[in-house]
Amino acid sequence: MKENEFPNCPLCGSKSNFLFVSKLKKNIFKCEDKKCSHLFTPINEFNQGVCQRIEDLELESNQFLRDFKGRNKRLTKFLLKNICSNKKNISILDYGTGNGHLPRVMREIIPKESVIYALDAVKEYDIFYEKFGLTPIKDIENIKPNSLDLIIMTEVIEHIVYPIETLKSLKSKLKSKGKIFITTPGASETESDTNAFDTVSHIQFFTEKSFEKLIKDSGFNNFSYFKPKIMQPHFFETPFDKDKILRLYGRSKEIIKKIITNYYFKKFLKKSKTKNNKKRIYHIIGFAQ
Ligand SMILES: [Zn+2]
Repeated sequence: MKENEFPNCPLCGSKSNFLFVSKLKKNIFKCEDKKCSHLFTPINEFNQGVCQRIEDLELESNQFLRDFKGRNKRLTKFLLKNICSNKKNISILDYGTGNGHLPRVMREIIPKESVIYALDAVKEYDIFYEKFGLTPIKDIENIKPNSLDLIIMTEVIEHIVYPIETLKSLKSKLKSKGKIFITTPGASETESDTNAFDTVSHIQFFTEKSFEKLIKDSGFNNFSYFKPKIMQPHFFETPFDKDKILRLYGRSKEIIKKIITNYYFKKFLKKSKTKNNKKRIYHIIGFAQ
């Protein structure tokens, strides 16, 4: 690829520099504007950011619930506490619902009068969402402006082709005090520092600077960062207990590998500090408001 063919940054439109070829054989570029420094891979294929279709959605969702049910309850309570919590009819949108293990747990906790919209690129999932009390929607435009209390976007923004435009349109659906909960793996110029490059459908890799830019340019005032603990299932905290090992035996090799990788990734997180001893953000988690 010639230098004049390097793609423009999907956040700010500036020129980019080639950084490296990832393990998954994706060309990774870095925005040359120092105020942005966004990392990304250009779109070469149709639906490049969309996750592979899940064959047995309910089975996968149930498998996730085995490990994440407790975490999801804890996370739901945390999210509710952070939005106007004592209201009966809350409106929530789970953007990029996938196997829906989090909104399924939320549905059991939040008041009956409340609604949880489920939106996914794969429309065949809608029957499954209905089965678990979620309200599938075809398009974000089907939601009334200023009507949502909370939008959840866990591990989704890194799959989106035009992240600023998407967040802008999501913001227009939030009530004035509404919040959007976002999580995404943080980017690093060293591939092994992060799991951001380990998924083939990831196309955006947010640095601290480019994430701040995303938030501001989408019209949000601020982002409050949380520690990774809020997202972790119990077994990350006690990795070698008996229950965890028994649970792991029931899983496929690939999932075990993922869990172990994540565990060591977390250990790595604890150890690594930057030169000025400030802890780096490897996983971005928090509320935009
Ligand atoms: Zn840029």
